Amino acid sequence: MLSGLMMDYPLTLNTIIEHARRMSPRKTIKTKQPDGSWHEYSYADFHRRIKKLGNVLEALGVEPGDRVATFAWNNYQHLEFYFGIPCAGAVVHTLNIRLSHEQLKFIIDHAEDKVIFVEGSLLPLIEPIADQLNTAQRFVLFNMAEGQSCSLPNASHYEDLMAAASDDYEWRCNDENMAMGLCYTSGTTGMPKGVLYSHRSMMLHTLGVLQAAALGPTEADVALAVVPQFHAMAWGLPYACAWVGATIVMPGPHLQPAPLADMIEDERVTIAAGVPTIWNGLYHELRQKPRDISSITQLVVGGSAMPRGLIEAYERDFGVNVVHAWGMTEMSPIGSVAKLQARHADLDVQGRWDIKAKQGYFVPGVDARIVDDEGVDLPWDGETMGELQVRGYWVAGQYYKIENSQEHFTDDLWFRTGDVVTIDEDGFMTITDRTKDLVKSGGEWISSVDLENMLISHPDVLEAAVIAVPDERWGERPLAVLVPLDGEHDPQALNKYLLERFPKFWLPDAYVVVDEIPKTGVGKMDKKVLRQWHADGKL
Ligand code: AMP
Repeated sequence: MLSGLMMDYPLTLNTIIEHARRMSPRKTIKTKQPDGSWHEYSYADFHRRIKKLGNVLEALGVEPGDRVATFAWNNYQHLEFYFGIPCAGAVVHTLNIRLSHEQLKFIIDHAEDKVIFVEGSLLPLIEPIADQLNTAQRFVLFNMAEGQSCSLPNASHYEDLMAAASDDYEWRCNDENMAMGLCYTSGTTGMPKGVLYSHRSMMLHTLGVLQAAALGPTEADVALAVVPQFHAMAWGLPYACAWVGATIVMPGPHLQPAPLADMIEDERVTIAAGVPTIWNGLYHELRQKPRDISSITQLVVGGSAMPRGLIEAYERDFGVNVVHAWGMTEMSPIGSVAKLQARHADLDVQGRWDIKAKQGYFVPGVDARIVDDEGVDLPWDGETMGELQVRGYWVAGQYYKIENSQEHFTDDLWFRTGDVVTIDEDGFMTITDRTKDLVKSGGEWISSVDLENMLISHPDVLEAAVIAVPDERWGERPLAVLVPLDGEHDPQALNKYLLERFPKFWLPDAYVVVDEIPKTGVGKMDKKVLRQWHADGKL
C-alpha cells in the first residue's frame, strides 16, 4: 500500500475552541438566567473560562477518562462543561434532569461519575439520592439562589473554584479516540443504555452538522437550543455553532411557549431546535399572542415525528421553514434531514409539505439499509416497510459496559435502530413507527404515527397518542388518547376525518380523553406509561 502523505491531525475538541477564540473572539453566547436577566459574554471569555475549568478539574482530582456529570438546564456554564471536561481528557456525562430517582441513581452508579456539576434550582432533585450513590465523590454547585443551602456532601461552588484557578492550561485531550461524552438513551423501553462518544466521532459529527445538506449553521446565525443539553448533546448544535462562531442563545429554565416566543423575537433567532411538543406549544402561543418570528430560517425539529399539519401551519401562518430531522442518541444524533431537493422545485405547496413531513435523506456520513425479520435487504421503493439499520462515522459500535448482542447490533456490525421505515428510490426515508409501537390488527400493520399525525391536524385536537391494546379477535387494536383543544371532541367527526386518509380498520376502537399525554424525560410522548395506564384500567 502506498500511504497518503497528509498530516495526521487529531480530531479533538480543543480544535473547535481554539478556532473560535481566533476567528470569532467578539461573537457572543447569551443565556437567559434563572431570574430572567441575560448573561452575555464573548467566545474569547468563553475560551478563557474553559482553560480555567481545566485547572479546576485537575484540582478536583479528575484524571483523563474519568466521568464528570452535569445536572443542568441549557446555559453558558453547561457549554463550558461541554468543552472543558472533554478538553481536560475526561468524559462529560449529561444527566437527564427529568429522570426518576431510581433511574438517576442507576445511571450515575453505572457511569461511575466522579464529580457532578449541579445547578441550584435542580438541587432538590438530586439531594434525596446523594447518600445512596456508590461513586459520586464531589459535587460542584452553580446558579445557586440567594441564601440557598445545600445538604450534599463534599460540595463546592463553581465560581469560587473558577476564581481561584489560573487560565494557563494545557489541553489534555491528546488522542482522537479518547472518550469525550456519555449520554444515556431516554429509556422508553428497559433501563437506559450509555452511548460513549469519542473526540473523533464528535468532531466528524460536528462536520456532519455543518454541512449545508444537514443543518449548516454559519457565523451569521443566531442559534437557540431549546433541545436540552442532556438530549443527545443538544443535537450537536453547540459544537457546530462554536466552530463557525455563530451566536448561541441558551434559554436556561425558560422553556414555556411565552418566553420562547419573546426570545425568538427579541434575539432575532435564525435557527431554533426542539422536539415537536415544544413547537406545538409555541404555535398555539403565537396564535393567541402574535410575535415576529420571521427571522427564523430553520425551525429544526426532531426526536419524534413532526405532524405534517404543524409543518404546514408554521409555513402557512408564519412563513417559517420547518426542517424535520431524524436521529438517535446512538447516532450523536443526526441521521437524516428532510430538506427539499432540486427535483422538488416544481411541486405545489401540498407536495412540498408531504416531502418535509418525511424524515428525509441520510446526511453524508450515514449509511442505511432496511431489512425484514430475517435480516434480508429490502428494496427502496417508498412502500416496503422494514427495520432501519445504520452505520457510519458517528454511530455507536457498542453500548457502554454492555456486550454487543443481536438485539442491538447485527453480525456484520450495523446498528439496529428499532424504527420501522420505508425509503424511496431517491433515498427519502419515512418512519412508519417504532417496532414496539406498531399496531398489528388481524395480521395487518397500522401505523400509530400516521394516525397521530392526522388526529393532531384536526382543529379540535391539541395532542394525540395512539397505542396498541390487546384484542381477542384481532390480536391488537388501536386506542387513541387525546387532549382536545377546548375540552370537547366528537368521535364521529374524528372517524370521518381519519377515513379521508385511512382504511376503516385503522379507526381507533375508542378515543380516551386525558388532561395531558405523559412525556419522557426528553419531551416525547411516553407510550410505555399509556400502555401501563391501560393495563391498570386507568384509561
Ligand atoms: P432518542 O435517542 O431519545 O433521540 O430517540 C431516538 C428515536 O426517536 C428514534 O429511533 C426514533 O424512533 C425517534 N425519532 C427521532 N427523530 C424522529 C423524527 N424526526 N420522526 C420520528 N421519530 C423520530
